[in-house]
This record gives sequence, structure tokens and C-alpha cells, in this order.
Amino acid sequence: MSITNNTSTKGTGPIIIVEELRKRYGDIQAVDGISFEVQRGEVFALLGPNGSGKTTTVEIIEGMRSADSGRAWVAGIDVRNNPKAVKQLIGVQLQSSAFFEHLKLAELLRMLGSIYRVKVDPDPLLEAVDLAERKSASFRTLSGGQKQRFAIAASLVNDPDVVFLDEPTTGLDPQARRLIWDLAKTWKRDGRTVVLTTHYMEEAEELCDRVAVMDSGKIIAMASPAQLIDQLISRGFHREQEVRLATLEDVFLDLTGRSLREF
Ligand code: ATP
Repeated sequence: MSITNNTSTKGTGPIIIVEELRKRYGDIQAVDGISFEVQRGEVFALLGPNGSGKTTTVEIIEGMRSADSGRAWVAGIDVRNNPKAVKQLIGVQLQSSAFFEHLKLAELLRMLGSIYRVKVDPDPLLEAVDLAERKSASFRTLSGGQKQRFAIAASLVNDPDVVFLDEPTTGLDPQARRLIWDLAKTWKRDGRTVVLTTHYMEEAEELCDRVAVMDSGKIIAMASPAQLIDQLISRGFHREQEVRLATLEDVFLDLTGRSLREF
């Protein structure tokens, strides 16, 4: 398969190619021979039950774990051969434990930038996740949701072509979740590719051009959300019509406002 000509850092076509990836942990076949492509500028999600192999797959593409067999390329670069070059092109949402607790948010972003040898202006990054006013606060004083939003801002310090988000909105309130959705849409408009995992089907439907559904380490379906829904309906599925003009989330947003609330 010819790879390097159609996954360069510029142009159109696939920016990620995954071919026959496998990873086993003892008795568990976490990833079982999966292949897929992500097109440049797509928002693409891996969906699947707990333990279906989503994080393992994503971390292999990021160069954080090694595959037993199969290959992955990002922008034409073979992750196995050159994980450092791949890391320059991607943004990854780090766990809270990756950040120095006592550093201020602006300092943390500048420090992360220095790892990539880029000079970072913390203000627009913090602004995007509504944390501009906390730039002089230390990381440890943030709430759980604020830490999560900060981690998303931090994934952009190197101006990446591809952003990986692992369950980016788990545990966030509805306002913060919408802020992250808007951010992902902005990244897409900027031409970035976004790869995420999520357990929220509503989130996948709102954001994703295509999704791959994983189960027991395999991809069992891959298409746009609308196509998958149409396929289900064409198999005879139908749901009892329940016409309700609002949801509990609408009630919550009506009571507490649509903008983020900080105390
Ligand atoms: P979740 O939705 O719960 O985050 P996931 O789809 O991301 O799950 P993975 O984290 O990729 O799934 O895990 C796939 C399988 O591999 C699971 O059975 C998990 O227990 C196992 N696994 C993952 N990492 C390791 C590891 N470092 N050592 C041993 N087993 C592992």
C-alpha cells in the first residue's frame, strides 16, 4: 500500500492511516486487527463499550504505546519508526497528573511550549476554554472541570494538525461540555483533524463526520452518524414516537444559564 504520497502534512486525503493493528495484554486481545483512515479536517470518533480497545488504539497512533503488529501513519510518518516526529504534529489531552500542581496556568503553558521549542502566548489558549481570568492561579486550585478544560487548552500549545481527545467531556457540566463542542468545531474550521473517544452518543452525533464503533478490539461499524442511523432503520428498527419539546438538559440550561459559571 502506498502511504507517503497521500498522507503528507499538506493537502487533502487521509492524515491518519491504521493498518491491521494488533495489541495483546496477556490473555486479552485489546486491539484485534483493525484498519481505518481519518481524513484531513475530519472529526472522527472511536466509540465502544468499556474495554473495547479505544484508548489502546489511540495511544498507539500517538506513539505512546507500541503495537504487537500492524502499522500506523500520521501525515505519512510511520509512528513506530519516528514517534518523535509524530508527537510534533499532534496535540494530546494529558491527564491532570501530568501537570505540575504548583505552577500557574500561564507558566504551565509556556513550559509545555518549551518542550516543543515554541513560544506560547497563554492568553488566547486560556480564553478559548474560559480560563483567562485564572491565568495566575496554580493548577492545584482549579476545580475538576477547570482542570479538564485546561488540559484541552494545553493540547494546542504546539499548534497541532491533529488533536486527540480521550473522553474530553466526561464529568463536565452541560455548559462546559458545549464550550468544548464549540472548540472542536472551531478547530475543524481551522483545518485541524480531531480524533476523540466518547461514551456520549449525543456528542458523537453533534460533532463527528464519521465514527468507528469498536467491540472486543475490532471495528464493527464505521460511517457517518446519519448513515449508521439510516442503516439501523433500514434493518427494521423503529422507536416509539415520544414527542417532547424539551429535555432535562434544556431545563438545566434554562435555570443555570448557557454561559460557564465560575465561583
Ligand atoms: P474505556 O471505555 O473503559 O476507557 P477502552 O475502550 O479505552 O475502554 P482500553 O483502555 O484500550 O479500552 O482497554 C482494552 C483492554 O485492554 C481492556 O480489557 C483493558 O483492561 C486492557 N488493557 C489496557 N491497558 C492495559 C495494560 N497496560 N495492561 C493490561 N491490560 C490492559
